[in-house]
Amino acid sequence: MALALGPEVLIADEPTTALDVTVQAQILELLAEIQADVDMGVVLITHDLAVAAEIADDLVVMYAGRVVESGATADVLGDPQHPYTQGLFQSVPSAERRGQDLPAIPGTPPDLMRLPSGCPFRPRCPHAHDRCVTERPALQPAPGELRFGACHLLDQPLSPEGAAR
Ligand code: SF4
Repeated sequence: MALALGPEVLIADEPTTALDVTVQAQILELLAEIQADVDMGVVLITHDLAVAAEIADDLVVMYAGRVVESGATADVLGDPQHPYTQGLFQSVPSAERRGQDLPAIPGTPPDLMRLPSGCPFRPRCPHAHDRCVTERPALQPAPGELRFGACHLLDQPLSPEGAAR
């Protein structure tokens, strides 16, 4: 139905949620075929990083309703620069960390009606400092080609644990 009028952009909101991996692969393949056939843009909204990594040319990471990081998929996956993106990637299970505790981002997402002052990610961020309490970081160019991020420490290398890497 969404394709009936030949849209230039298709917004697919969690199209593979709750599907088994076989059907998920079929859906992603179908999307890619249709996209190529009709030269249509696809905005895929997903919580599944593996799906995003497989299908997306560019990634836009959102937190509390705002963009916190964006860039080419390979660049963002290879070198996440926002603390939230770093935390997300760290929390993906991997065979290399078998037997170890899975790192998780502490706390819970904020109530959108009562966002914390300053940076919305501040209560959960291992790098939060005084400026983060009073000033919400704007989305700005980040190191790298066509990268953008919203963090006061974008120009400083960060480790997920909170220390300089
Ligand atoms: S602005 Fe501050 S609290 Fe927000 S992500 Fe950056 S370091 Fe963390």
